Amino acid sequence: MRAVVYKGPRQVEVESVPDARIERPTDVLVRVTTTNICGSDLHMYEGRTDFETGRVLGHENLGEVVEVGSAVDHVRVGDVVCMPFNISCGFCANCERGLTAYCLTTNPEPGMAGAAYGFADMGPYNGGQAELLRVPYGDVNCLVLPDDAKEKQNDYVMLADIWPTGWHATQLACVQAGETVVIYGAGPVGLMAAYSATLKSASKVMVVDRHPDRLAKAEEIGAIAIDDSKSPPVDQVMELTKGLGADRGCECVGYQAHDPQGHEHPNMTLNNLVKSVKFTGTIGVVGVFIPTDPGSPDDLYKQGEIAFDYGMLWFKGQTIGNGQCNVKNYNRALMSLIHEGKARPSWVVSHELELDDAPGGYEHFDRRDPGWTKVVIHP
Ligand code: NAD
Ligand code: ZN
Repeated sequence: MRAVVYKGPRQVEVESVPDARIERPTDVLVRVTTTNICGSDLHMYEGRTDFETGRVLGHENLGEVVEVGSAVDHVRVGDVVCMPFNISCGFCANCERGLTAYCLTTNPEPGMAGAAYGFADMGPYNGGQAELLRVPYGDVNCLVLPDDAKEKQNDYVMLADIWPTGWHATQLACVQAGETVVIYGAGPVGLMAAYSATLKSASKVMVVDRHPDRLAKAEEIGAIAIDDSKSPPVDQVMELTKGLGADRGCECVGYQAHDPQGHEHPNMTLNNLVKSVKFTGTIGVVGVFIPTDPGSPDDLYKQGEIAFDYGMLWFKGQTIGNGQCNVKNYNRALMSLIHEGKARPSWVVSHELELDDAPGGYEHFDRRDPGWTKVVIHP
């Protein structure tokens, strides 16, 4: 089969690799029809992780079931399915409680929890930027989509990661109807957090970034764009909230955070959140803060030890929630919003490519070239 393969820092190629296949009776084999490039792929793409060369990338996948293992009961050949990026077993102590991002059995590394497709340190699984994908524990890890799946595949594919993750950011931040929310990052995840806050009837959604095209996307859904290259974003949030700060804040950038001058400060968004969220406000952090490259030349990045103003967080009595999204907690409900015509998350899509054009898609998305907001690949 053809697949997007990691070759080294900022190098991916489309190559022929051995077909994905059923390996265990609980597996499902999916012919991938839609798969996205994610900001999380850039952690591998930019060479910050120990992701093996030759491995297939891609954790935001949707497709048609072409084969099921002998122990699969629920999913059938012909079903159109969307896979959460988390690979979970469904029966461990964490999965039982809905914490599928922290599954205790699917990551074989001792002491680790949580697995994903085509991801460094998240188990040995290949990704779905390919013609075929092996889905472990298929009954658990396939969300069977309704009959409009094919015509709305660019909407449903967002259920694999970025929409549930954006929703999770607002859940961690405890966003309620009528509240004000500030979101740092207008990448695909930040835009989905803004969309989620809007759907939850937040009274004011403010989105911070410096890319005009991404800020314009935020404005499309009625959010207030805050361009931090013009003036400090904290000042702008304070002005918009009459000096009180936002009720809730979401971090959707991660350790790629940098200032508009291009100097890298992975703690910048955290400090800005502590400053621009009100006393006793709540902050949800879904941006990734754990570089895994032990040889990283930059001390700030080592071991994820990123200092931020904890003292001020404490003084303001703020609460902070973190981590990967347990996609299965949200994807069925969000699927219903799409099916019933209440939501169309595909508004975030800027480009649809064929598999062979994926390397160019990575280059543009990695450079945040104007207009390259979210890349969808149709193998
Ligand atoms: P992205 O890199 O395309 O978007 C990040 C945006 O943040 C960019 O538009 C950038 O200009 C902006 N930015 C950079 N520095 C900033 C700053 N100081 N202040 C405000 N904005 C700033 O990536 P994405 O796909 O939107 O993903 C965002 C983060 O979410 C990544 O770290 C990704 O790995 C993470 N993520 C987490 C989960 C999870 O389960 N927790 C899931 C998916 C993605
Ligand atoms: Zn993703």
